[in-house]
This record gives sequence, C-alpha cells and structure tokens, in this order.
Amino acid sequence: MADRSFIKVVKFGGSSLADAEHFKKAADIILSDPTRRYVVPSAPGKCAADNRKVTDMLIRCCGLAADRADYKPLLADIKARYDAIINGLGMDYSLDAEFEKIDAELRRGAALDYVASRGEYLNGLVLAHYIGYEFVDASEIIFFGPDKQFDADRTNLFASERLLELKNAVVPGFYGALPCGDIKTFSRGGSDVTGAIVARAVMADIYENWTDVSGFLMCDPRIVENPRPIHKITYRELRELSYMGATVLHEDSIFPVKLAGIPINIRNTNDPSDPGTMIVSESEESAPDIITGIAGKKGFSVVHLEKDMMNVEVGFGMKVLQAFYDMNICFEHLPSGIDTMSVIVETSLIKDREGFLLSKLSRMVTPDHISITQDLALIAVVGRGMVNYPGTASRVFSAIAREGINIRMIDQGSSELNIIIGVAERDFEAAIRAVYNEFCKNGKLS
Ligand code: ASP
Repeated sequence: MADRSFIKVVKFGGSSLADAEHFKKAADIILSDPTRRYVVPSAPGKCAADNRKVTDMLIRCCGLAADRADYKPLLADIKARYDAIINGLGMDYSLDAEFEKIDAELRRGAALDYVASRGEYLNGLVLAHYIGYEFVDASEIIFFGPDKQFDADRTNLFASERLLELKNAVVPGFYGALPCGDIKTFSRGGSDVTGAIVARAVMADIYENWTDVSGFLMCDPRIVENPRPIHKITYRELRELSYMGATVLHEDSIFPVKLAGIPINIRNTNDPSDPGTMIVSESEESAPDIITGIAGKKGFSVVHLEKDMMNVEVGFGMKVLQAFYDMNICFEHLPSGIDTMSVIVETSLIKDREGFLLSKLSRMVTPDHISITQDLALIAVVGRGMVNYPGTASRVFSAIAREGINIRMIDQGSSELNIIIGVAERDFEAAIRAVYNEFCKNGKLS
C-alpha cells in the first residue's frame, strides 16, 4: 500500500475537459502536484468547436436508437470530438474498439444509463493514457443497491481498498454499477458526486473541484456587477446559499465529504493561480467576515392567518400545518406573531389549489382573517460572522428601506447564520444590490 501522505482528489468538470487545449491545462494542473493522486473527469462539455455536451449527444443517440432512427451520424460526431482531443494532444491512441462496442450495444437496444455514462468512461480512458495514471472503471468501485439507491457503505469499502493500493488513478465520474452489473448513473452533473465519494474513500485531505469559475461569488454577478469572491465558506453557510439557488456544485456531492470532514476547494482550470473557494466543516478564524454571501429566489407565496388570542389556543399551529400536510405541501418558513402566523410556500406547490387551501384552513382553525399574497421573493443574507457583529440585521433592513423597498417578511434563523427577508418580486434585484452595497464598499467588507 502507498504511503499515507497528503492526498488530493481532483475532479474536472466538462468545460475543463472539453477539448485538447483544456485537457493540456488539466494535465498540467494534475502533474504539477504529486499529491493530486486521484482524478475524476466529467465528459467533454461545450467548447469553441462544438456547442454541445457529449452527454447530451449520447442521450440523444440512445433516443434515436430506441426509435429505430439513424443514430450513426451523431455517434460519428461524438467520436470526432474524442478524436480531435486525442490528435490535439498528439497521442498515439485509438478509441475505435470502444466505439464499435457502443455501436453494437446501441443496435441491441442499450439502456440509457449505459449510453449516457460513456462520455465519462471514454474521457477517463483518454485522460489516464495521457497523464500515465491507472484507469479504474467506476463500475468496479461505485455501487448502487437493488433499490437503485447509492450504496455508500459497500462503495466506501471497495473503493478505499482498491484505490489506496494504487499510486494514482483516474476514475470516471457520473456512474457506478447495480448489483446485476448494469450501469447506473447519478443525476445530471453527478461527476461532482463521484469526486466526493472517491475523496471520502481515500480519506483525502482536500477534494479539489476544478471548473470554469474561480469559486463562489458573494452574489449573482447578473445582479451585482463584479461581486467579491468568497474565499472561505462553511458547509452550513453553503447549504443556506444553495437552498436559495446559488451553487456551482451538485447538492449530493456535499454529503460524503462533509461526513468525513474533508474540505472542498472550488478552483478555476483557466486560472490555476487563483485560490478559489474553500468549503470547510467549521472555520476557526478569529474574525470571520461579517457576511459571506447573499442569494435569493423568486416564486414564493405567503399564506397569512390572523386570529385573536391565537397564542393561547392550544394546537393552532399544529392544525395549520396539518392542512398543509394533508395537501402534501411543504413549507419554507413560518414567521409568527402573537395573533398572526404566516406560512411561506413555493407558489408552484399551491398553484390552482389556493381556493381549496383557504377553505380547508378556514374550516380547521377558523381564523378572523386569512389571505394569500403571491409574488414574494426571498433573500438570504448568510454569514457565520454575523453573530459577532451587533446591528447586522438593522443594517440589512435600513439598506433596503433606503431604496424605498417594503420588507414583507423577516426571519432570522436561531443559529444567527442568516437573515431571510421577503420582498415583492419586482424589488428582488434592487434589494440584493442594496444589501451588498451596504456591506461591501470598493471591494472591501465592513
Ligand atoms: N456528464 C454528466 C452531465 O453532463 C455528468 C457531469 O458532467 O457531472 O450531466
């Protein structure tokens, strides 16, 4: 078994391996650091020469084959993508036999998961040959159970044993095997998940996730021009921000590494000198930034209930939530006052059922007043440092008020990790800009 020294698992996304030029950059990154022992590639993504992702092309090929339509020209395009990479790298290597096998499988009515997974499989073969690393097929170490759910324990056992005895290896992302041996993929973007699983299996010190951006930014750059990058973020903060839709990572990829306490470092293949964003379990710094990020989403509704003496009515809240439960609607927030209670839900979940919901609630809790307001946008201001700075909430509210924006809802999590504000959808962007500009002046946080 190789020495247990510092180990990095490095995952490269589709844009980082889209063509020969990007392959070279990725290879330089891998080979410049001997601790980058395990590499997880995605399939080639969009590139200058072709605006299609190989995975999408494979899925289309499978559809054509299932419809008994001519899939061969598309399969030839896919092969041309790989040949261009191989030739651009000056390699003496051929995927002809692999493509013949895929063609034969397509003729035999191959399953979608098998076909979709070939993008990663072939990219893994090419990369392993190019950098001289061992190729380990993900179907030999990543397992799903008979229920088609990922089998974490079995995978961890096998992957750890197999990988740690190798000096280095390339493990294609996105798929594993069912007990019968058939290929099963994760959901789209699932190479992130494979990277995290491999990182946990080899007990990596860092899981580097190489993509085409230098990590997370404090806000959506479509809303705030040139926002500050986030250098360090905790898993809990990330969860808060990604709940609001801000993420460059597959959600399921957090779990295996979080469990093992392995930090994730998001890095930019086109700018390897940028340290990117480090995602850590807990941060020990003495003075964390006052806020870490701001994210938000439109498309929420508030169901507002008022009833005199609500606070002494035993079971009021339970009955309200029972009504939502009965209709299979999950709620997002539950701000309440002495005689008022608001339930915030995604508008799409109550669409065309508002009347039914209102009459059900009226029957169950006989409120004095009940209404639904739609077009609510939620904004989360997230920061582990918030707890150390009194007055943060008032700064958030004043900044929004100065813009003449009405705050419709406030919810501060008891962990003091976030402040959630509801505003009308039309005020969404302006409110985010107001909060950002309050805390970040000339690129500096205060
Ligand atoms: N190639 C797969 C997709 O496009 C998986 C990945 O890239 O992570 O979804």
